[in-house]
Amino acid sequence: MKKLVLLGGGYGNMRVLRELLPHHLPEDWTITLIDKVPYHSLKTEYYALAAGTVSDQDVRVSFPEESKLNVQYGEVTHIDLDEKLVHVAHSEPVSYDQLVIGLGCEDKYHNIPGADLYTHSIQSIGKARDTYQKLNNLSANSVVSIVGGGLSGIELASELRESRPDLTIKLFDRGKTVLSSFPERISLYVQNWFASNGVEVVNEANITKVEEGVLYNNDQPVSTDVIVWTAGIQPNKIVQAMDIEKDRQGRAILTPYHNIPQHEEVYVVGDCASLPHAPSAQLAEGQAEQIVEVMRKRWNGQPLPEEMPSIKLKGTLGSLGKKKGFGMMADRPITGRIARILKSGVLWMYKFHKG
Ligand SMILES: Cc1cc2nc3c(=O)[nH]c(=O)nc-3n(C[C@H](O)[C@H](O)[C@H](O)COP(=O)(O)OP(=O)(O)OC[C@H]3O[C@@H](n4cnc5c(N)ncnc54)[C@H](O)[C@@H]3O)c2cc1C
Repeated sequence: MKKLVLLGGGYGNMRVLRELLPHHLPEDWTITLIDKVPYHSLKTEYYALAAGTVSDQDVRVSFPEESKLNVQYGEVTHIDLDEKLVHVAHSEPVSYDQLVIGLGCEDKYHNIPGADLYTHSIQSIGKARDTYQKLNNLSANSVVSIVGGGLSGIELASELRESRPDLTIKLFDRGKTVLSSFPERISLYVQNWFASNGVEVVNEANITKVEEGVLYNNDQPVSTDVIVWTAGIQPNKIVQAMDIEKDRQGRAILTPYHNIPQHEEVYVVGDCASLPHAPSAQLAEGQAEQIVEVMRKRWNGQPLPEEMPSIKLKGTLGSLGKKKGFGMMADRPITGRIARILKSGVLWMYKFHKG
């Protein structure tokens, strides 16, 4: 039997599984999925897990149970492209005939002293749980600073506002307004929501140093009880350590068929891949569909298209607590309750395999 090995059971590889099983995997192939966590984790909801507004179980989805799928739990430590081996902590190395690397991303601290030591994270389920503990154990009227006013910082700040009305929440953002790459209507809507809900947005922030309980904005100290970092991401360290060509963000540069050059047997999906759009779950899934299309054509001895079509994205949706939201759908800005309902609908469809 030949072996397709999937590293990481995130949005990208879950889509690979859903496209291949049960009917589209050739008779003589099996799949091994390796993840350090024993379920698929809904990373897009980690802001709510950290804020304490959803339970741990709400952000887990079981891996599929199929006779041709072997799920192995363990931490990948190294990928050996020459020997076609994946090294896993405390286990024998796993060999592969084909590999899809979908290990997601981690925080990027931009070399800011102390940021890696004194801030909390929502980039993995374990870290989001730790952040939940820190935030929810805070005594009344404590101060929380969130660094980074992108989608995840905004969602965390607003969800925490609803979860803990007693806290002072500060959101530090580099731009003149939050979401400065979105249409003005959206950034103003979000900025106004924060103003009317008592979240202090610090625009044009420049965090220069972090110490225990102190954040330095433009070198001015800001006392704070908990600091959460949402100000940048980079690919998983396993991919960072690979001796392959990478883009400026450290993501793997791929052929049009999503392979590592000179390694037609190795695909990279999701946040670890250099793609022409910002990383997102939606992008990881769209790319995974193309990867499966390429795999199936190769298995069937069919020619590949000269060019792969661009990956179609449906839009972006963000939440402002449980009642309000914002986003871009088909290039049109939407705000308010309808955006929030749409976001909940997308999550429901994803969880119950309707999307
Ligand atoms: C708060 C927040 C909100 C977001 N909201 C949205 C949104 O609304 N829409 C959207 O499209 N995107 C959103 N994103 C981005 C989205 O979550 C990611 O782009 C997406 O998860 C990437 O998918 P992936 O398959 O590359 O990796 P992931 O889904 O991150 O999966 C990686 C998997 O690899 C496993 N893994 C990692 N390291 C190892 C290792 N060494 N050994 C074994 N297993 C390992 C992990 O356990 C995980 O299961 C959000 C992100 C955050 C943090």
